[in-house]
Amino acid sequence: MRVKFFKPYITGNEIKYIKKIIDNNSVISGDGEYTKKVHKFLQKRYKVSKVLLTTSGTTALEMAIRLLNLKPDDEIIAPSFTFSSTVNAILMVHGLRVKFAEIQGGTLNIDPEDIKRKITNKTKAIIVVHYAGVACDMDKIMNIAKARGLKIIEDAAQAFESQYKGKYLGTIGNYGCFSFHETKNIVCGEGGAIFINSNNKKDFEKAEIIREKGTNRSKFFRREINKYEWVDIGSSCLPSDILAAFLLAQLESIDKIQKLRFQVYNYYRNKLLSFQRKGVVKLPLIPSYAKHNAHMFYILFDSETKRDYIMGQMRKVGIDAFFHYIPLHSSPQGRSLGYKKNDLPLTENVSKRLLRLPIYAGLKKKEYEYVISNLTKFLTYLDKNNV
Ligand SMILES: *Cc1c(COP(=O)(O)O)cnc(C)c1O
Repeated sequence: MRVKFFKPYITGNEIKYIKKIIDNNSVISGDGEYTKKVHKFLQKRYKVSKVLLTTSGTTALEMAIRLLNLKPDDEIIAPSFTFSSTVNAILMVHGLRVKFAEIQGGTLNIDPEDIKRKITNKTKAIIVVHYAGVACDMDKIMNIAKARGLKIIEDAAQAFESQYKGKYLGTIGNYGCFSFHETKNIVCGEGGAIFINSNNKKDFEKAEIIREKGTNRSKFFRREINKYEWVDIGSSCLPSDILAAFLLAQLESIDKIQKLRFQVYNYYRNKLLSFQRKGVVKLPLIPSYAKHNAHMFYILFDSETKRDYIMGQMRKVGIDAFFHYIPLHSSPQGRSLGYKKNDLPLTENVSKRLLRLPIYAGLKKKEYEYVISNLTKFLTYLDKNNV
C-alpha cells in the first residue's frame, strides 16, 4: 500500500461554481461575485470587521507587514521554527529587520519569555505562528504587546478554524494571515486571506490600495470616487474569481472536511498514547486554552537517530512521513543575517526530532489503520532495542 502525505479534498461543487462563471460570462479577474461571497462568509463566520482574499498566505503576510508603516531599522520579532514566508514578509520591506525568538517545548510555538528578552527600543511588532493549528499563548503575548505598544500579526496559515479561549485564531492580533494552499485544511490551490481586526477605516482602505497595485480602484468600484489613480506603493494581491469560486465550495463543506480530519487525528492519538506513556514518543500538546483544527499530526522522539530510523522504516512500507522546518536562523539565508548554529538550541533540537504523519480529509480508514499498524510495530521495536 502507498499512503500519501496529503491530498486536497474535493467537494464536487468547485467545478459547478467555476462552470457558472464561464457559462454566465462573469468576471474572472479579482473581486468578482465569488470573492464577495467568500468575504461575506468569512466575515460572518469569524466575526471579523474586514477580510480580503489574497493570492497566497505569503502575500497576506506581506500586506500585513506593509500595513504596519514601519521605518528602516525597525525590528520585528518572529519564531525561527516556521516557513520562510513568515520572515520573508519582513525582509521584503526595505530596511526592516527580524529578531528570531525561541519556541516553547510543549506547543512548539513562540516563547513569550523569549519575546521579552528580544525586545529592544527598535522593536515594533511580533509575528506569532500558530504551529500545527495550535494556539500560541495569546494572553501573555497580547499583554507584552500592549505594555510596549507593539503590533501583532498572527501567521494563522495553518490555523483555520482553530481557537484560543473561544476566540478564532487570526482574529486576536491586529492582522490575521491565512493560507489556502493545497496542503492546508481548506484549499484553492494557491490562495490566502488577511483579516483586519480593527474598525479603523483608514487601515482597511490602505489594505485595499496595497492589494490593488497601489491604486484606489476598490473605492472606484464601490462608486465612492469617480476615477481611480496611483496613491501609494502596492502590488497585485487579489486572486482570480475562479479561485474564489473553488474556495467557496470548500468553505461551504468546512464542517465535513474538519470532521474527516479529526477522525484521522483522534485515531492516531488514541493508538499512540501508550507509547507516550512508555516514553517512546511525545504527542502534540494541546493546552487547555487551545482548540486545534487537526491540521497536522506530529510525533517527537528523543533523538534524531530514532526519528530518522522510524522515518526510513515508514517510507520502506510506502508511508509518507516527513520531518518539518529546518530552522530559519540556521538556514543559509538566516546565517547571512548573522545568525549561527546554537543561537536557538531548542528550535534546532526539536527540528531534528520531529516526524509528521499523513493526515487529510478523505484519508481512508484502511490507510490510516495501515499507518498505525506499521508505526506501532516499529515503535515497539524501538522500545525494546537500541537503534
Ligand atoms: C503555508 C504557510 C505559509 C505560506 O502560505 P502560502 O499560501 O503557501 O503562501 C506561511 N506560514 C505558514 C506557517 C505556513 O504554514
